[in-house]
Amino acid sequence: TWKQFPEKVLVLGLARSGTAAANVLLESGKDVTVNDAAASYEDVPVLALQEKGARLVLGSHPLSVLEGIEMVVKNPGIRYDHPVVAEAQKRSIPVITEVELVAYITEQPIIGITGSNGKTTTTTLVTEMLEKSDCKVKLAGNIGIAATEVAQTMQADEKVVMELSSFQLQGINTFRPSTAVLLNIYEAHLDYHGDLESYVRAKCNIFKNQHADDYLVYNADDPTLEEKVKGTKAKNIAFSATKNLYHTGAWADDTHVYFFDEAIIPLEDIVLVGKHNLENILAAVAAAKLNGATNEGIQHVLKTFSGVKHRLEFVGLLHGRYVYNDSKATNILATQKALDSFKKDIVLLAGGLDRGNEFDELIPHLHHVKAMVVFGETAPKLERVGKEAGIQVIEHAAGVDDAAKTGFSLADEGDILLLSPACASWDQYKTFEERGDIFVQAVHTMK
Ligand code: ADP
Repeated sequence: TWKQFPEKVLVLGLARSGTAAANVLLESGKDVTVNDAAASYEDVPVLALQEKGARLVLGSHPLSVLEGIEMVVKNPGIRYDHPVVAEAQKRSIPVITEVELVAYITEQPIIGITGSNGKTTTTTLVTEMLEKSDCKVKLAGNIGIAATEVAQTMQADEKVVMELSSFQLQGINTFRPSTAVLLNIYEAHLDYHGDLESYVRAKCNIFKNQHADDYLVYNADDPTLEEKVKGTKAKNIAFSATKNLYHTGAWADDTHVYFFDEAIIPLEDIVLVGKHNLENILAAVAAAKLNGATNEGIQHVLKTFSGVKHRLEFVGLLHGRYVYNDSKATNILATQKALDSFKKDIVLLAGGLDRGNEFDELIPHLHHVKAMVVFGETAPKLERVGKEAGIQVIEHAAGVDDAAKTGFSLADEGDILLLSPACASWDQYKTFEERGDIFVQAVHTMK
């Protein structure tokens, strides 16, 4: 309970999770200072905090904010080498993130999901599978919904499904999911965590407080994880897209997805494509089954779920063309994965912000691509790579709108029309979402 929580708390960085944390702390009677370099004294949410008794320090980060402070709740995005955070650590003041507060608010079970990639997809799948099985769940976390806010609304018999980033997990002491899902660990965010080891440690925090009756769902195809989960207290449930896990967890062969010895759904009934999504599905099936999902509920979701928006999302079968929006693919690796997901002929739309890299790593993945439409700053580079891969038809377009139209005319019935740009969108669009939305709008006008 809050009694065990220190009295004098600094909330560093407001934004969504900071504001939510400050609110919860104020409501539980804590002495709260909020510090944000960007927020101004006119911001309505900030003034509301002041009304509830918060002390405001805005516009800069003076070290004096740490005076008398016993606990720092830091926004996950703020790095540990930030002057205030570094000073707090030097003074041995504990530094946590907002998710740590959840345990003080509710005792309802938490299904926590983390990984370098696939978090949003898996979190969404688990939530929908449980909902369709008439289990009561709420969604929270890194997905854009403050965990403490959701925690305050939890009912008895409800569970919360939380997407957790490594930034959030680095700042926990006692946070304990009853089901933890660890999808994969790739080298990412090393600028923030400093080195791979501390990044891996942050991710593995997801299971460090688990008890013997909790579950840890982990990827048995990831050698880093196999090693790390040894010696955990929780019951380990594996998932694998390559191995037969008849006795240990969720797996798939050429025909079905299984949970232990039970066939859950034929692969041909699943809308999501790609090996990476199969991994997300297996993890989701395991987490959902362990939390009471029915096979009917799981089947319903997998037969209809067409992907999280802009992430290799199936837009539809339009005039015989299978249209996919993968605008989130802002780097080469993501586009490689998208290309590897299909066995049919592909018309690929790609291009965007030029970060100075070449695209030769795409060449081995272009063999199903029969035509390309390139746009944006990187259009000439992508054209060169396409030519080297032996693609006969390569067209230029002014933007994604124009590219959609040209691509549609190049695709025959039965082909895949795929937007997977391999580049960020900022040369022409505000966000990858805007780019994806324009694409989807354009393909829907095609006749
Ligand atoms: P996150 O929330 O972790 O960013 P998303 O579910 O939003 O993950 O997927 C983002 C992108 O990451 C996808 O478009 C795909 O390119 C890639 N991806 C998704 N799942 C996986 C996975 N299991 N393994 C590797 N890459 C993946």
